[in-house]
Amino acid sequence: MNTPFDHPCEMCRYFKKLDALTGNCHRFPPVFAGDSSPRETHHWRYPIVGIHGWCGEFLSLPALHVSADGVGI
Ligand code: SF4
Repeated sequence: MNTPFDHPCEMCRYFKKLDALTGNCHRFPPVFAGDSSPRETHHWRYPIVGIHGWCGEFLSLPALHVSADGVGI
């Protein structure tokens, strides 16, 4: 039986790595993160998640396809 720990964020299609331990979740559009900054682009953020986090929206990475000359595509 699979557990949530078999499907961590770092293996999810929606995960974009930031550093060794965290990344952004791109499952949904950015969320309001406060307006303390004068720059509008700072007001909206993708959630930061840990590489070992998980949720019910997990989607596996696409399978690697290998071309005839052995290059991953
Ligand atoms: S929070 Fe959910 S959808 Fe987002 S990266 Fe982690 S497992 Fe994927």
